[in-house]
Amino acid sequence: YAKKNGRYHYRFYRSEMSQAFPNEVLMESHLKRAIEFDELSIHLQPQIDLRTKEIDSFEALIRWNNRKFGYVPPSQFIPLAESSGLIIQIGDWVLEQVCKNLQEWNSKGYRPVRIAVNISPKQFKEEKFALKIEQLLSKYDIEPRYLELEITESSMVNVNETHSILTKLKQLGVFVSVDDFGTGYSSLSYLKKYPIDIIKIDQSFIKDISKDEKNEAIIKAIITLSQNLGMDVVAEGVEEKLQEQFLKQHNCQKGQGYLYNKPLPVDQIIQEYLLK
Ligand code: C2E
Ligand code: MG
Ligand code: MG
Ligand code: MG
Repeated sequence: YAKKNGRYHYRFYRSEMSQAFPNEVLMESHLKRAIEFDELSIHLQPQIDLRTKEIDSFEALIRWNNRKFGYVPPSQFIPLAESSGLIIQIGDWVLEQVCKNLQEWNSKGYRPVRIAVNISPKQFKEEKFALKIEQLLSKYDIEPRYLELEITESSMVNVNETHSILTKLKQLGVFVSVDDFGTGYSSLSYLKKYPIDIIKIDQSFIKDISKDEKNEAIIKAIITLSQNLGMDVVAEGVEEKLQEQFLKQHNCQKGQGYLYNKPLPVDQIIQEYLLK
């Protein structure tokens, strides 16, 4: 591009790029003040009903635009937020934003949709987690079925603890999904022990559709298993038509991925999906 556009353009492009944080200590100190400096936002990604093409649910994905270092992907700062404990504050902020949106959309008469929020193990295990959810639902006057909580297998290690939290959440009426299904090491028996509504097949499996027969066998098995247990299935990371065809053919309910849309700012979601 230097040759084609000249030096000016080259420098411009460079300055637009986000530099990585030189170290975690600095990243943590910036992350601590990200809410205060209004650097966090939420993007939403639609989930498509593969049969009807309808869209009645979205996943909330956090975005961090640091004033000094620019865009930082969640894969870089969520692990740090988790290990430093900042995830509680950040996670509370995400839940609050999502509930605010749901209330606002409802008051404006937009069609009802569900939003799924990623919940880190530290959040999930907080003493008051279920109570927090209950208070949020009441504060923003939200019907529980419009809020979904995505947990990972790593949150479900302690059986008694998990059972007690999930039972409370189920009593509230919110939806619970297992994110990144198939990548953890927990035993499948949790599927019969816990009240789980939705299974999200990890994108690594979707990626290898039509490349790997063993992989296809696993996806088919996950879909059948979920359905026999009365759970819905969402395929993550659907990028190609061929993947969609395979998933549809094997009765996977929903798909989420770049084939349909990337995660978008809330205003754009309203324009593209809620006003129609
Ligand atoms: P996840 O929950 O499994 O979210 C799906 C990730 O896949 C998102 O990455 C999304 O942008 C990306 N994705 C969606 N469609 C496609 C596709 O077709 N192809 C590919 N290659 N990727 C796709 P993102 O937004 O970078 O988030 C990464 C992870 O960070 C999330 O994985 C989740 O574990 C975590 N995360 C994001 N937001 C939050 C949050 O608010 N709280 C917590 N605790 N974790 C979050
Ligand atoms: Mg997720
Ligand atoms: Mg995840
Ligand atoms: Mg996932």
